[in-house]
Amino acid sequence: MALRSKKDYVKSLQDGREVWVLGQKVPDITTHTLTKIAVEHCANTFDLQQDAKERDLFTVVENGEPISRYYAFPQTSDDLEKRRQLIDRHTEIGRGQLNLTKAIGSDGLMAATVTAHQVKTRGGSDVYSKRLEEYVRHVKKHDLAVVTAMTDVKGDRGKRPHEQADPDMYVRIVERRKDGVVVRGAKAHTSASLAGNDILALPTRAMTEKDADYAVAFSIPANTKGLKLIMRPMPPHDVSAWDNPISAKNLEGESVTVFDDVFVPNERLFLAGEWQAAGLLAQSFANFHRFTGVSYRPTIGDLLIGATQLVAEHNGVAKAPHIRDKVARLIKYTEMIRACAIAAARYPHTEPPGIAMPNVVYTNIGKHHFADSFYEAVRVMHDVAGGLVTTVPMEVDWNHPEIGPYLKKYLAGNAAVPAEHRVRLMHFIRDLTASDFGGYTMVGTIHGEGPQAAQNIALMADYDINRCVGLVKKAMGI
Ligand SMILES: Cc1cc2nc3c(=O)[nH]c(=O)nc-3n(C[C@H](O)[C@H](O)[C@H](O)COP(=O)(O)OP(=O)(O)OC[C@H]3O[C@@H](n4cnc5c(N)ncnc54)[C@H](O)[C@@H]3O)c2cc1C
Repeated sequence: MALRSKKDYVKSLQDGREVWVLGQKVPDITTHTLTKIAVEHCANTFDLQQDAKERDLFTVVENGEPISRYYAFPQTSDDLEKRRQLIDRHTEIGRGQLNLTKAIGSDGLMAATVTAHQVKTRGGSDVYSKRLEEYVRHVKKHDLAVVTAMTDVKGDRGKRPHEQADPDMYVRIVERRKDGVVVRGAKAHTSASLAGNDILALPTRAMTEKDADYAVAFSIPANTKGLKLIMRPMPPHDVSAWDNPISAKNLEGESVTVFDDVFVPNERLFLAGEWQAAGLLAQSFANFHRFTGVSYRPTIGDLLIGATQLVAEHNGVAKAPHIRDKVARLIKYTEMIRACAIAAARYPHTEPPGIAMPNVVYTNIGKHHFADSFYEAVRVMHDVAGGLVTTVPMEVDWNHPEIGPYLKKYLAGNAAVPAEHRVRLMHFIRDLTASDFGGYTMVGTIHGEGPQAAQNIALMADYDINRCVGLVKKAMGI
């Protein structure tokens, strides 16, 4: 058992995986200009695990060996709080972008473990529990980067898997063999898939008996034959970090993840037809993953607060009462999310076999809140920053011998602040919220960790409304 170095991790990605970008099959994702940023970003975990300053948070000792804290499943409220702090710190280091490889992988593994235990205790086989135990040991031992592909492409959202015009709109088993199954279908928006060693696939919704073949969960290496990762392009790796302070370094990318008749061996199969368990698996993953969401989103809120305060100072308006009100609004937005994350860790539900599940009510309120008010928070920052957010000149113009001096003179704000700081801050705000990447962040805030209706469903299923109704009845004496 050993923590891997960044070098070993990067080398492990040179394994013949089938990654497509802009119509090209990428021969080596670690060197290709359109995928290199994602590899570098995802590799940061491996440096941090070895860093003396970060090691205590990023690793734990289990059975005498250091392992990634992401894979030490929380058993207590304190463990969950540490996980929250880990995600928070990891996001801070990633300039507001969490490296999801191990985070989302462990969310999926915890959900699969809880579900396999339920299958066993409800009279089913214990085979999935045993396989998962073995697989999680393997992940820890080889310090693997695992990503989770849950969201199916789904076709017509109003129809169940078996009702779809095309039967492949949810990943399904198309053949059962003695030594495993063959699966077909596609998952959408799989984060960091190109940089995962293994892809963990989970069902995305509750199923009926007729959907049994769609109730399938498994994990396979990213270079498995028939697995195709079709990525959106990332910026070239040498794009200016002056102009794009976040997206030039911290992007992980999503794929349409195609399973073109992929063989899954029995030992990596964690659900294969038990349709009654699919809903629990999807719900548990959503809850673990939303906790990841409420743990990393406050860090993005911190950036909104910091950038808004700083831009107000650079523009010379920081003391204006309406500006202070706007900064206060951002603080309230951010700290509400953080408070939900802390409360979700503080009041967990302990799920057999001893995994602390973040509190469902606080987790879902936190996720719903950050999605609901993010555009508004961004609007507040844009209002304070001014139009230069979108019209700001680029690095080459700033440094140009002929036109640069004009920009340096005319784009100055508060004389106490170098004009270059003001302009670079505008780029920071543009990159985070008003660029192609900014648009990605906006939509990701709404849909990452599930659409808002899903949080209301989870909240209403878990919240003790009868307690409130009882209080009213008692107060009325009825
Ligand atoms: C940046 C980003 C990263 C992501 N990363 C991952 C990842 O790593 N792994 C992963 O598995 N997923 C990932 N997702 C997927 C994410 O969880 C989904 O985008 C989200 O669940 C919404 O699904 P959808 O995109 O298919 O939208 P849709 O399901 O089409 O939702 C659109 C709207 O339709 C509504 N709707 C959908 N179905 C119904 C229905 N039956 N009845 C009524 N209303 C309905 C929804 O509530 C929503 O309002 C990511 C998404 C984004 C944007």
